Amino acid sequence: MDFDLFVIGGGSAGVRCGRIAAGHGARVGIAEARFWGGTCVNVGCVPKKLMVQAAEYGTLAEDARGFGWDVAVHGHDWSRLARARDGEVARLSGIYRKLLEGAGAAVFEARARLLDAHTVEVDGRRVTAKHIVIATGGAPVRPTFPGAEHCLVSDDLFTLPRRPDRVVLLGGGYIACEFASILHGLGAKVHQLYRGPLFLRGFDDDIREGLAEEMRAAGIDLRFDCDALRVEKAHDGFIVHTTDGRMLEADAVFAAVGRRPNIAGLGLEDAGVRVTGRGAIAVDEAGRTSVPHIYALGDVTDRLNLTPVATAQGHALADTLFGGNPRTVSLENVPTGIFTIPPIGTVGLSEAQAAKRGPVDVYLARFRPLRHAITGRDRKTLMKLVVERQTQRVLGAHMLGEDAPEIIQGIAIAVVMGATKQDFDRTIGVHPSAAEEFVTMRQKRPDPLAEAAE
Ligand code: NDP
Repeated sequence: MDFDLFVIGGGSAGVRCGRIAAGHGARVGIAEARFWGGTCVNVGCVPKKLMVQAAEYGTLAEDARGFGWDVAVHGHDWSRLARARDGEVARLSGIYRKLLEGAGAAVFEARARLLDAHTVEVDGRRVTAKHIVIATGGAPVRPTFPGAEHCLVSDDLFTLPRRPDRVVLLGGGYIACEFASILHGLGAKVHQLYRGPLFLRGFDDDIREGLAEEMRAAGIDLRFDCDALRVEKAHDGFIVHTTDGRMLEADAVFAAVGRRPNIAGLGLEDAGVRVTGRGAIAVDEAGRTSVPHIYALGDVTDRLNLTPVATAQGHALADTLFGGNPRTVSLENVPTGIFTIPPIGTVGLSEAQAAKRGPVDVYLARFRPLRHAITGRDRKTLMKLVVERQTQRVLGAHMLGEDAPEIIQGIAIAVVMGATKQDFDRTIGVHPSAAEEFVTMRQKRPDPLAEAAE
């Protein structure tokens, strides 16, 4: 065999797996056809977060007045932001490639496909490998209604030459919500259309409602139970015809209606790799496909499509195969952040999910952060703990408010360790902070079921 491990895809999962395996002494080859670092570094988490931060500066500048700063904002320079963002993305992408080379991996900047269960065709060559990892990620789903060809997808935000003044966003998931905050924060008039009654399905209801309130208060036009019927080209932009009978004018229409695994052209059939009904590569918890020495990691398996999950899976597989440390990654209690303005941080079960397992105690705090007592901005922070009544274990912690993803990362350690409400209670708060509310919540929310029984 030419390689001990051949990795197809140089994103979060593939790069980590290849680099750690090479560090363990394996002969590693890795192929990437588009950009090192994959979606996260190039058209996802990293440039998105920089744009959220850009959007936040607008409100921070306004808020500074309350603190005595005489700040005048004269607008936003989109191309200056784009240059700064693209420079950082290029730097990080280069680091990803260098890390692989530094670890001794053979790097191919080309598309790879399986010819059989041990042979890969890459860059006009045939190479053989003992183990193969498929980590080709996913791509945005494009809608199919008439005029859908006029829609942009998430990748396109990062190549737009200027800020669109009027934006329609389709979808109610992570991307649609984050993009609504970014584009609104940078000065666009934003309409977000979601087909169901409340966006962010699967997240805790109080947090979902809280975010909808905050976004509406900021001036975003949120329309629930509403979808696009068709999009047509107008002389200056587009017209979106909606299911509630309206016509919305837009300079850009973004469809953020999910992502699907990249499996086309990989030769999966030739190698005997099985695909699920939803078009993802079927794997067990160790990432093993229907062919025992072929693995699939990250978004191409469409489980929890988050970068830190993908990198953890890549690292665990490299340790298992070449580091003498067999292990798998748990997909339970994976914390996550939604980088809206204000953001969400969450770990564990929502109240609705937890209540399906048995009785729960719910602690909820809603307050105006100290900063806004001075700025006058009408923004609320919301924190919530969902506790299993019988064991007092904290099953879920949820936050909507400034710094929520930063705060929830620490809380997640306690939740993963199985902390009880009493463990939270005996922890001393950091004062004055918003985070201290997580250890000072004492008032249970009245239980509507218990009250009804009285
Ligand atoms: P999501 O799967 O999160 O959300 C898709 C949204 O589109 C849902 O609101 C869904 O509605 C709606 N939708 C799906 N199909 C249709 C349709 N045919 N017509 C109208 N609406 C539709 O996808 P995203 O694209 O937002 O993000 C993809 C994934 O990327 C996320 O799930 C997440 O794993 C990852 N991600 C993570 C981020 C982070 O960690 N901060 C940031 C961005 C992405 P419904 O709920 O009714 O099905």
